[in-house]
Amino acid sequence: MRVEVAVIGGGPAGLHAAYEATSRGASTALYEEHPGIGEPPHCAGLISIQGLKRLNVEAGDYIINEVRGCRLISPSGVALEAWSSKPKAYVVDRPRFDRLLAEKALSVGVSIEASRRATRWLWNEKQIIGFVGEGFRVEALVSIDAEGAGASLSTQAGLERPGGLLGGINVDVEGVEVEDGLVELWFDSQLAPGLFAWVIPLDERRARCGLATSRGEPYERLRRFLQKRFNGEPQHSKPWRGIVVTGGPISRTYLDGLMVVGDAAGQTKPTTGGGVILGGLCAREAGRVAAEAVSHGDSSSRFLSRYELAWKSMLGGEYSSMSMARRLMNRLRDRDLDELFTAVREAGLEDLLTRLVEEGDMDMQRAVIHRALRDKRLLTLAMRILGRVALSELRGLLSL
Ligand SMILES: Cc1cc2nc3c(=O)[nH]c(=O)nc-3n(C[C@H](O)[C@H](O)[C@H](O)COP(=O)(O)OP(=O)(O)OC[C@H]3O[C@@H](n4cnc5c(N)ncnc54)[C@H](O)[C@@H]3O)c2cc1C
Repeated sequence: MRVEVAVIGGGPAGLHAAYEATSRGASTALYEEHPGIGEPPHCAGLISIQGLKRLNVEAGDYIINEVRGCRLISPSGVALEAWSSKPKAYVVDRPRFDRLLAEKALSVGVSIEASRRATRWLWNEKQIIGFVGEGFRVEALVSIDAEGAGASLSTQAGLERPGGLLGGINVDVEGVEVEDGLVELWFDSQLAPGLFAWVIPLDERRARCGLATSRGEPYERLRRFLQKRFNGEPQHSKPWRGIVVTGGPISRTYLDGLMVVGDAAGQTKPTTGGGVILGGLCAREAGRVAAEAVSHGDSSSRFLSRYELAWKSMLGGEYSSMSMARRLMNRLRDRDLDELFTAVREAGLEDLLTRLVEEGDMDMQRAVIHRALRDKRLLTLAMRILGRVALSELRGLLSL
């Protein structure tokens, strides 16, 4: 088969890239290894409403619930809570969400080839000219790699693998008491080193619970977390798993004939590992540049570097701030977090948290981080408590 643009991977990044390339006139085929789009799921499905607007994804039957508030819980159980007056995020059914993106892609003419796993690049000297899989071969002027966090083809092509990879896991629990509309994030290095555990309400009796961890078996840790949160293990679904990416974007995202997007390029938020929105925004840029490459008949790395320029000028500052915040968080010990949470409560700073949640952007977190550190009361606490263990990271954040 010969097409102008060929995409590997039918997750959100691949689907956005394919949609964008096709709607700008390039003939595009997308190859997904599974028989259906969106399956098997791996994601907790918390997606910002503002982010969906940025991506022009309309509301639909993929929305399960709305979220307005968050509760952050320190290792010893000190809780900080903040609510927004308006819903900030949706809890989504990821398979349905991905299928909606697939319908949109099909509607503009993307050809989606299911049960097609790409295994090897096709080269013409140093230019990638397509790929092959079992029983198929596709030649394309531009290939877009949207394989997700387990990416192996991009490393085969000579690009980096993203860093900060964590084992992630989710289950849906039922018959529990949770506060509807409120997401809980539990920090505890014994349970979720490298990130946190989460409780995302599906309604007031059901929740999606999960965690990501840099070491150990995620399921065993999740069971311990469920015991801690619910005083016993509630009835739950079979777990679903995936890799959470927290290391920030890889240093180079294009080659001759190839662009890498989404989790495969590390385009998630280093603070949380969420990648549906930022990965989607980057993927749209790749789709746009792919269509331009087709109309110029030029898919050299020089031409495709426009993609990296575009996503970096849109999000480079965001990634720098969030990566720095992640490095700072990774240095904190449980007792530092306990001390910080207690100090924030004692100083009556929960009003500041409420303001940050109300005004803040869940995806573009740079401004929130800066606004928080510009508050003299919080800065004094942060310097006193966090400065002891992560002074250079804190200074880095202040100077960004
Ligand atoms: C436990 C967990 C919880 C998460 N929670 C959230 C959250 O709440 N909010 C959020 O925004 N993000 C969350 N994420 C991250 C989010 O899931 C990813 O950022 C997002 O799915 C990335 O999209 P993608 O298209 O790059 O990759 P993926 O969604 O992983 O899609 C890649 C696709 O490519 C296919 N593929 C791979 N290799 C090949 C090949 N060789 N040939 C053909 N097809 C191939 C895969 O089967 C897959 O369908 C979570 C991740 C995990 C693991």
